[in-house]
Parts: sequence; structure tokens; C-alpha cells
Amino acid sequence: MTEVFGNINSFVRCSALLTQETAFLIYMQGCVLRCLHCNAPEMFSCNVNKKMSVNDMMSEISQTENFIKKGGVIISGGEPLIQIDFVTELFKAVKQKGLKTTLDTSGALFNPADTSKIDIVLSYTDIVILSIKHINSETNRKLTGQPNANVLAFAKYLSAKNIPMRINYVAIPTVNSNRNHLLELGEFLATLNNIKSLDVVPFINSELKYKSMNLEYRLSDIKTPSKEYVQNVRDTILDAMRNCKKSGF
Ligand code: SF4
Repeated sequence: MTEVFGNINSFVRCSALLTQETAFLIYMQGCVLRCLHCNAPEMFSCNVNKKMSVNDMMSEISQTENFIKKGGVIISGGEPLIQIDFVTELFKAVKQKGLKTTLDTSGALFNPADTSKIDIVLSYTDIVILSIKHINSETNRKLTGQPNANVLAFAKYLSAKNIPMRINYVAIPTVNSNRNHLLELGEFLATLNNIKSLDVVPFINSELKYKSMNLEYRLSDIKTPSKEYVQNVRDTILDAMRNCKKSGF
């Protein structure tokens, strides 16, 4: 069989960044979105940084196997589903080793009219981390460059297939933390039956990084919010969810 290669930005052998359990974390190169708040603009481009085959990556994973028994392998980015063939083959190999697989995605590439490839990936995926940027499609377009229809459709699709999902939300003061929008987001999430957790993380001002890369940064005036602010964003979303249904949250 032809070997499948991935365009890898980097990987961390033992990371607890995206999950409480130590995992092998892979950052894929390339993204279809251009989120104004992105703190990884070095992953925007699809140009090759580090080309690795599935076999090469599995060799790396094998070296840390004993330390990632619980966390398994997380594939993140960038947007990993740009390289869906690599994700498929890697997850297939990871599952053959009996390790857990986590897909961290924006959902922007989901196409409800053709789910043939994503269905194969999902058949090897234990949990999806879905990053929702904004519940309002027009504001989402201003924030990321694209409307949110595919993202919300993907959330519904995962729910219908009962695939466990963690929601990731970046709290950006003045941009996506308006109370009405948070309530609307909570009402949407309440319609899903597969959410395992809601992770709200603070916006990080990345102006210096963008400047060092000669990129325009449009959120210069926004500061990283306090812990209390982030907690309040999460509580508001959860309240809306609880008001809509008796969820486990
Ligand atoms: S989806 Fe993630 S990696 Fe892509 S631009 Fe947005 S924040 Fe950055």
C-alpha cells in the first residue's frame, strides 16, 4: 500500500495541554480559517514544514506508548482535516495499538452532502474536540473568514452519531462574549446529546507574535481576560443549557 505522508508542524510526546491525561499531541500544518484571535499563525500555511509518513509518526508514538495509555493520541492543528487521508491512516494505526484517539477540529471542512471520508475518520475516533468560534454566522465570518454553517452541522452530525464531543470556546472580550450570543450558544448546545465537557479558555493577545512574523494583528486592543471573566462566560453558556434541558452539566 502507498505510504501516506502528513505535513506536520510539530508534535509533543507527553502533553496535558488539551486533556487532563497525558497524550501524544500532533499539530498538523495548514488551516482553512484565518481566525483573528488565532495564536498559531505559523500553522496557517499548507506549505510543508516537516513531512512525515504514518509509519514515521507511529515509530515516534511507540516510543512513548507507556506514558500515553490514558490520553492516547490527539491530532490538532491548524486544521487536521485538511489532511484527512493522513488522519485516517494514523488513527487506524493508533487504534490497532489499542490507544485512544482524539480529533481536535474547527469543523469548518465538514460537508453534509458528502460524509464518506469523515465517516471513515470517525470510525477510528474516540472523541472529538470541536472548536466553536461564534454562534452567529455573520460574526463568525468576520472572526474566522467563513460562516459557521458547517461547524454547527458537524456538531449536529456528531450528536446524531453519538460520538463523544468536547466543546472548546475561546472567550474573547467584546468579540464573542456578548451575553445574548452566549445564551444562544448554550441553547444550541442543549440540543446536542453527546457533549462530555465545555472548555472555555481565555483569548491570548498575540500581537507580538504577529508583529515578529510581519502579519497584521487586528485585536491589538483586546487584553487577555481574567479567570473570573472566563468563568462567567462558561457559567452563562451552562445556565442556558440547563434552562433548555436537564443536562448532566
Ligand atoms: S481554526 Fe485554529 S488554527 Fe485555524 S485559524 Fe482558527 S484558531 Fe488558528
